[in-house]
Amino acid sequence: MLSSFDISIYLNRPEVADAGYLLAAVLFILGIKGMTHPRTAVRGNLLGAMGMLVAVLVTVVKLELMPIGLAGGAMAVGAAIGYVLAVRVQMTEMPQLVALFNGFGGAASLLVAGAEIAQRTSVDVKSVAEETQQLTPDFALLAAGAAGLIGAVTLTGSFIAAGKLQGIPLVDRKPPAGLQVISALLAAATVVLLVLLVLGYMWAFWALLGVAAVLGITLVQPIGGADMPVVISLLNSYSGLAAAAAGFLIDNNVLIIAGSLVGASGLILTNIMCKAMNRSLANVVFGKLEPSADGPSADEVYEGKIKATSPEEVAMLLDGVQRVAIVPGYGMAVAQCQHSVRELADELASRGVTVEYAIHPVAGRMPGHMNVLLAEADVPYDQLKTMEEMNPHFSQVDVVIVLGANDVVNPVANTDPTSPIAGMPILEVDKARTVVVIKRSLSPGFAGIPNPLFAADNCLMLFGDGKQAMVDLVAAVIES
Ligand code: NDP
Repeated sequence: MLSSFDISIYLNRPEVADAGYLLAAVLFILGIKGMTHPRTAVRGNLLGAMGMLVAVLVTVVKLELMPIGLAGGAMAVGAAIGYVLAVRVQMTEMPQLVALFNGFGGAASLLVAGAEIAQRTSVDVKSVAEETQQLTPDFALLAAGAAGLIGAVTLTGSFIAAGKLQGIPLVDRKPPAGLQVISALLAAATVVLLVLLVLGYMWAFWALLGVAAVLGITLVQPIGGADMPVVISLLNSYSGLAAAAAGFLIDNNVLIIAGSLVGASGLILTNIMCKAMNRSLANVVFGKLEPSADGPSADEVYEGKIKATSPEEVAMLLDGVQRVAIVPGYGMAVAQCQHSVRELADELASRGVTVEYAIHPVAGRMPGHMNVLLAEADVPYDQLKTMEEMNPHFSQVDVVIVLGANDVVNPVANTDPTSPIAGMPILEVDKARTVVVIKRSLSPGFAGIPNPLFAADNCLMLFGDGKQAMVDLVAAVIES
């Protein structure tokens, strides 16, 4: 029988650690693959988490960093905090939580780089490299600098992003003039410090951390609060790059693999979001989404043309229809009325009506926002249709219910090249026979511009909070 000493020797063999890392990498990739479909997303998430558990355990055993009990205790505390945060967070606050997680990821890479630099400062650089037979000193210092630089930008940038989304007054305020010039100067300073570090000036690392931390603040502060989801996705990618750099620094393959996966997937997601808004990344980071001064005013668009309706009237409209499409938007997330939406859809389906959900890629405030909410209400996946699937069919839809969506159904995107959403692909709901828009007022959406859809001949406005309006509508449909 093997003693615990034998087991520990066995586990410490390099090939066992490599096999563990390989298993972790495979689990990460399977996890990401699982995320590509709502049906497999939960399993994908679990596989990714298992991969991380394997990677951490193998590292703790391999490096003999600390007693297993202590490592297990630390992981249990971390897991408990993560669990409480994830369970308690509101869906509308999820981007903030993701931002905080990114920030912690950046901090972890920064700490790894800092520990390595502190060690190298106390011991002769060359002898450490020779002793550990790792990377050449220059390359190691470049990796340390990259991990510190990107980690610090990610840390402070993510906290500013989370603060802006949360509406914390200290960060969510108009940026002082000239902040972007200061960012450019700070960015130039980081390059100089990185070069000095690679040349062997260790103090440059600590200066680099300080400058990069300020750069994270000055870069993110001027960006509009509503653009934060794109910024968070970008910072997510940065946190991956910082981890990959830290992996090169400490010669840890699984950190390089996981960091590269996060870096690449964050960039892909950022690109998808920019495309869906028809904006470049530079426009999001350095520009501003503002209503054009030449655009028509709300009065010009709406005056005398708005037709308000009631739940009872909409219920009558829905009586005898064959095909209904529901277009959820940010307002559904605010009102948290996805369960009532499902009730309405079930009631209509029980009467033989075909019900579909048309999901715009940037509806809400983060990618997949609507899919997650509807999945939470157990809406069958096959009823969720993408914009590309639905647009050719709106002309055959009897009633479209637009629930708390605004920009993603604004026809101005196709008709006014000066509008801030010009060129953004939209759900062409105006082609349906009748459109019912549920929202509280005629207030604009994220882009801040009026929506001529609301004044269209085939459009009825059901004013009210999304939740109350849906509850009343379900009751009226059941009664009718
Ligand atoms: P919008 O922000 O355009 O409009 C949301 C509407 O919801 C508002 O007009 C508001 O009107 C209404 N609303 C708010 N609260 C409630 C409530 N309690 N009950 C009913 N209605 C409510 O949302 P969309 O989803 O149409 O568009 C998303 C926008 O966000 C796009 O411009 C997109 O580019 C942008 N964006 C999206 C990202 C993503 O990844 N999804 C990332 C970054 C930006 P009222 O106040 O009158 O009720």
